[in-house]
Amino acid sequence: MTAEPARASLIDGKAFAAGLVERVAAASARLEAAHAIKPGLAVVIVGEDPASQIYVRNKGETTLRAGMRSETHRMGETTGQHDLLALIATLNADPGIHGILVQLPLPAHIDSAAVLGAIDPDKDVDGFHVVNAGRLAVGLPGLVPCTPLGCLMVLKAELGDLSGLNAVIVGRSNIVGKPMAQLLLGESCTVTIAHSRTRDLPALCRTADILVAAVGRPEMIRGDWIRPGATIIDVGINRVPSRDPDKAAQGKTRVVGDVAFEEAAEIAGRITPVPGGVGPMTIACLLANTYTAACRSAGIAPDDLSA
Ligand code: NDP
Repeated sequence: MTAEPARASLIDGKAFAAGLVERVAAASARLEAAHAIKPGLAVVIVGEDPASQIYVRNKGETTLRAGMRSETHRMGETTGQHDLLALIATLNADPGIHGILVQLPLPAHIDSAAVLGAIDPDKDVDGFHVVNAGRLAVGLPGLVPCTPLGCLMVLKAELGDLSGLNAVIVGRSNIVGKPMAQLLLGESCTVTIAHSRTRDLPALCRTADILVAAVGRPEMIRGDWIRPGATIIDVGINRVPSRDPDKAAQGKTRVVGDVAFEEAAEIAGRITPVPGGVGPMTIACLLANTYTAACRSAGIAPDDLSA
């Protein structure tokens, strides 16, 4: 009898996110009981983008489920930058609001960088402010972008001590690739960041004990790019036509990651699926950041939220 080839174990991001939301809820309840501080998150959405509306509703519902204060500010598509900045100034000054998130993308007539730069860095729970990017780069406490923070939490829960591991991150965006690299460097990994100009990407990927794919190209990373036993974190969210040709003809789609999952699962040791891997961690980390910001606003050390 021949043995079945070993398959990677699945990293269940949904279950991990549910656990993190529970831990944040418990920590927030302790903060409220001991210090009368209820963490508050304000989400600002401008315009009617349907996907953004769904994200914002999910964020509001999850925030309330965690026992936190949730505010959603909906502004019309034609809102001027001045009015949006005025709202941010009001939220910056509101002591009951500890986290401010401006849903992206903003309408084209608004300068997104100016808006994100106007958020108080200590309330910047998306972690996109240059002050928070700088704090992360020099190793000071700050607020870290939610998606890479979720990836790091999952990696630590799965692998424990990461020091000395080779990490390859494919993608160098400010919201995923670069902060992921900083976080893994902070864990003493040997980090390489790859991008569209990288030479011989497959060979580089084969050096990775940890491979983080944040590219935005469906199933670009193939099974034979993966080192046997490696841990694969697939951040990509790509819509491709349905497998069923009739459904595809009707415009039906499915979501895939940046990694060719079936091939990769034959070689890797651990892998996040898409959907159900990294995606669910993002909202959970938003709540974690809001809790952290609420604690720091009162000079209190946040509880450890790791699993
Ligand atoms: P960006 O488009 O900002 O960055 C993509 C990166 O991939 C760039 O650095 C680019 O290189 C690199 N790249 C593009 N093509 C190649 C190639 N052929 N070979 C190597 N590198 C390449 O994307 P984001 O970082 O914002 O997002 C990446 C993916 O993650 C997307 O699918 C997005 O939807 C998903 N995402 C998922 C989230 C979640 O919650 N799970 C949250 C955020 C993003 P260069 O810089 O040289 O152009």
